[in-house]
Amino acid sequence: MFYVIYRLKYLKLILMNKILMVFALTLFFNCNSSAQKKSNEKTEIYKVMKTEAEWKTQLTAIEFNVLRKAGTERAFTSLFNKNNEAGIYICKGCDTPLFKSEHKYDSRSGWPSFDREVEDNVAFSTDYDLGYARTEEHCATCGGHLGHVFNDGPKNTTGKRHCINGVSIKFIENK
Ligand SMILES: [Zn+2]
Repeated sequence: MFYVIYRLKYLKLILMNKILMVFALTLFFNCNSSAQKKSNEKTEIYKVMKTEAEWKTQLTAIEFNVLRKAGTERAFTSLFNKNNEAGIYICKGCDTPLFKSEHKYDSRSGWPSFDREVEDNVAFSTDYDLGYARTEEHCATCGGHLGHVFNDGPKNTTGKRHCINGVSIKFIENK
């Protein structure tokens, strides 16, 4: 009789251990998968949201690569580098006004440059694509990548250089 009770207790212990182990494993995998989800998926919600296929029908290959894949156009390829006309630069993805011609300057970097954005229409994030922190900027309405912000802009104004891919914007001349 004593032996049976002892045996039962022993079995219970083994069972408890197994349950605990399964519980711990479940917890581990749950944590793991939610951590992975966080790093893989972009949870930002934008006013204008389209599928990759929809963006591809609207944009050229280079526009898609820059705006939707955070690519960079080759330096000195944008006609906007030399554009000094008065007007406004709007998002190629959704037509939101992003930069004004009066804030454009010649940075000689090879990309259209502005010392400030149209406030609230541009949003910012940090990327480490080149191994160090850079301030990335994108359209606040559709999330389209525009370029980066650097601190070597004109000292007499904001000191900021918004280094923008010409293919991510359209120019609307003032009439
Ligand atoms: Zn946009």
